[in-house]
Amino acid sequence: DIKDKPGKHLRDKLVQSYKLSQPSESLCLSEPRCPAFSLTGANTANHLSLPERLSVCRGRPREGAASPPSAFILAVMCPSLSSAASYTDSSDDETSPRDKQQKNSKGSSDFCVKNIKQAEFGRREIEIAEQEMPALMALRKRAQGEKPLAGAKIVGCTHITAQTAVLMETLGALGAQCRWAACNIYSTLNEVAAALAESGFPVFAWKGESEDDFWWCIDRCVNVEGWQPNMILDDGGDLTHWIYKKYPNMFKKIKGIVEESVTGVHRLYQLSKAGKLCVPAMNVNDSVTKQKFDNLYCCRESILDGLKRTTDMMFGGKQVVVCGYGEVGKGCCAALKAMGSIVYVTEIDPICALQACMDGFRLVKLNEVIRQVDIVITCTGNKNVVTREHLDRMKNSCIVCNMGHSNTEIDVASLRTPELTWERVRSQVDHVIWPDGKRIVLLAEGRLLNLSCSTVPTFVLSITATTQALALIELYNAPEGRYKQDVYLLPKKMDEYVASLHLPTFDAHLTELTDEQAKYLGLNKNGPFKPNYYRCWLGAACSSLGGGGGGDTAAYICACVRISSKLSV
Ligand code: NAD
Repeated sequence: DIKDKPGKHLRDKLVQSYKLSQPSESLCLSEPRCPAFSLTGANTANHLSLPERLSVCRGRPREGAASPPSAFILAVMCPSLSSAASYTDSSDDETSPRDKQQKNSKGSSDFCVKNIKQAEFGRREIEIAEQEMPALMALRKRAQGEKPLAGAKIVGCTHITAQTAVLMETLGALGAQCRWAACNIYSTLNEVAAALAESGFPVFAWKGESEDDFWWCIDRCVNVEGWQPNMILDDGGDLTHWIYKKYPNMFKKIKGIVEESVTGVHRLYQLSKAGKLCVPAMNVNDSVTKQKFDNLYCCRESILDGLKRTTDMMFGGKQVVVCGYGEVGKGCCAALKAMGSIVYVTEIDPICALQACMDGFRLVKLNEVIRQVDIVITCTGNKNVVTREHLDRMKNSCIVCNMGHSNTEIDVASLRTPELTWERVRSQVDHVIWPDGKRIVLLAEGRLLNLSCSTVPTFVLSITATTQALALIELYNAPEGRYKQDVYLLPKKMDEYVASLHLPTFDAHLTELTDEQAKYLGLNKNGPFKPNYYRCWLGAACSSLGGGGGGDTAAYICACVRISSKLSV
């Protein structure tokens, strides 16, 4: 009894997909068919409000609903269930965004996104994220008075999600002009990119870019007539690399680079060591507020989400090996252990290895457990951690995925040989089949799982995004000579400020030092409360570089702290 057009379209799609599913038993589905599922308009995803759709997509039956839809039906209804990143993507639209002529409602075509018409959906996503990003919203309030980024022209290359959108719009509110590309070919939320383009941000990104599209998008952000960046915000170092390679003269006008990822920071230190770093750089990755929250807590929550959405697997009793016991590895191990998995760890660093042992994990070499484990997760930031030899020895149905930034950790290229068959079973899920019938389940083709296949908690991203915003403010406003052509860490006071802005969410009450206690500890009552080297004791990668002045932003922060303390901090 479907009457309207979207309902009919969906029904056709369901029927077609249902037929297609009949002959193949190899589809990796928890519940392959659900003939009793009602196809009436009211029950289709297209007719539900966003929260309802999300609740359906996550498998929670709505009140009064008949039997819950099968995973397969849901995957058709809500592509987001399996691909996670998108709520309105239409798989019918195969046209490359590069071949489309699109304009936003103000007539601008200075962007390239999948479909500008999805902007309204993206705007709702951004509004949801804003609620979990209190610190950026506080900075925006502050920006009503002054614009610490007035004149800044920021070129950015990060994951394009609702959370990044809140950061970009905050940078805009603080006075900056921004152009943006995605740092990962799968992680862009198309609706969000559309919403940003609609509100006037030149965004060049879509989910499922080719390698060539990836570099084209970066180039469109940088190679613009009449606009030259003076700040870089990078995640992974690709944008920085591109400017070095193609437009080295641009560095004459660039005041600084803010880099978020382990991988990108590593590249910056290499450049610095070789004497090739042309501008000051802020290492946001090693800020305590990034390491302890983004890498650890974010991955602790999203590893389960990513695995569950792609494979519907149960974690209890499963044998898992996690390669790398840094912050990301610690988060993954904690989550899986809590779900009842048997977790093994591999490490090269004896300190992290000892931590794994003390936390109750068996430290092994990958070779020792590769035949028996059900899941292999890489989170080292390294390359070729899982080799073809390991892949050959894995047992049937072993799930292989990566939580590190780059797709270098698993030697996926070695699987593209004639004797192996690749079978796409879901978006971001491939079966790679050996001649004897053994198959492994490869997720996101070895790219980082959580950002490709699930969502990540907004609150932790808020902490990182606020740190990035402050790093940009600091580098942009620093007087000549404060920062040299080197890599710096954010001043401790800024880390503490970022954390303090997030405390009111929990109605947390911070204890203040008495004068006597401050004197006894040799501290200023307003912080910083720990020396810079303290984070090394916490297990974060210790950098010999860094320190940094932080005068201007520190003054800005003090003013903010005064204002926010009146509000709630
Ligand atoms: P980290 O430096 O704290 O940890 C990496 C660990 O891997 C180190 O302890 C290192 O000794 C170990 N290691 C290196 N090579 C190894 C090998 N061959 N075998 C076993 N262990 C090895 O870094 P991190 O903060 O945990 O980040 C790890 C990766 O995850 C990076 O690429 C980072 O960019 C990425 N990351 C991902 C997310 C996400 O949401 N998925 C979030 C933050 C960071």
